[in-house]
Amino acid sequence: MKPVIYLDNAATTRPLPEVVDAMLPYFNEAYYNPSAHYDKAYEVGNILNKCRSTIAQTLSCDPSEIYFTSGGTESDNWALRFVRPGQHIITSKIEHHAILNTCKYLESVGVEVTYLDVDRNGKLILPELEKNIKENTVLITIMTANNEIGTMQPLSDISKIAAEHNVVFHTDAVQAYGHSHIDVNVVGVDMLSASSHKFNGPKGIGFLYISNRIPLHPMIYGGAQETNMRAGTENVPGIVGMAKAAELSCESVRMNNAWHHVSTLRNKMQNKIISEISDVSVNGYSEFSDRLANNLNVSFKGVRGEQLLRLLSDNGVCASTGSACDSSSTEPSHVLKAIGLSDEDANSSIRFSLSHDNTIEEINYTVDVLKRCVDDLRRIR
Ligand code: PLP
Repeated sequence: MKPVIYLDNAATTRPLPEVVDAMLPYFNEAYYNPSAHYDKAYEVGNILNKCRSTIAQTLSCDPSEIYFTSGGTESDNWALRFVRPGQHIITSKIEHHAILNTCKYLESVGVEVTYLDVDRNGKLILPELEKNIKENTVLITIMTANNEIGTMQPLSDISKIAAEHNVVFHTDAVQAYGHSHIDVNVVGVDMLSASSHKFNGPKGIGFLYISNRIPLHPMIYGGAQETNMRAGTENVPGIVGMAKAAELSCESVRMNNAWHHVSTLRNKMQNKIISEISDVSVNGYSEFSDRLANNLNVSFKGVRGEQLLRLLSDNGVCASTGSACDSSSTEPSHVLKAIGLSDEDANSSIRFSLSHDNTIEEINYTVDVLKRCVDDLRRIR
């Protein structure tokens, strides 16, 4: 039987067994509507409060600042609702489409948006950020870590600039939360998006941290759930699963061990690819700082990324050519273009994203398969 080697953890992660176990009773026993008025329903309501507190603890914020959403996309949409026609947002060219397409929509209703360039590693150029702040700038939204190349942004520096100009700072932490330590007070963000399925929780659930200082508009109008800010009966099993995943993933020792294990494997994989396959280049930071531990994005000169992906899949290796949400697009990645790659090099790139489940045997196997597939594709060019 073909092995399954899962190296696409930026697309989604495997729910931990503890997460699934925690969720099960909320499907078949404690299925009550937390807004109803009897003891069983109150018990479920109490569980939701506990989950909110668990998540708040991981960010060192108040539970009243955590709002449950359906995931990263909704959280990003909600954060950007802060802005009104005539006002100005600053973002970057390498944000996820959950941000970029929301900005496009906002432009169509009269919001002004500046899309900042990044350097060749995908890092924001801080003087450019400051230069672009105007009288009507009300929001800066910059991701914590990029989903394609793993580049981590200098959040504390950005938040200082934002605060000096009295501008609200939102960060899309979908790829970073649960993998690297984030304390909203230390970092100084006003809003933060996260998504459970990126940190070994279930899909279709996430949260938005909104500092109590920020007067945000409701996301969904209707009932009184989420203190009238996001109506609709709560996804109780999802919230329970997300809170369990957050508790486990953000536990300090466990997080540090996972980071160490994953970055060690990733570095070995990167070194083996560079030493065994010709004409390759690593996208983003090839040295290992300022980059998510699990990310490895490589261009294989003269090879079409989708063809390579197909051959890898035939050999049991699951990877990606970029963002999973864009996988049906034939356009070269906007992230790789923004860091200066040609269309051809962008289209020859593969993203591997590792997890604590991966082993050195899987990495060695993957690079051996990769070498064979790249050779085959280059031969038939
Ligand atoms: N933001 C980033 C950086 C992402 O990587 C993703 C998903 O890949 C999202 C937002 C969207 O999150 P969700 O899939 O939970 O809607």
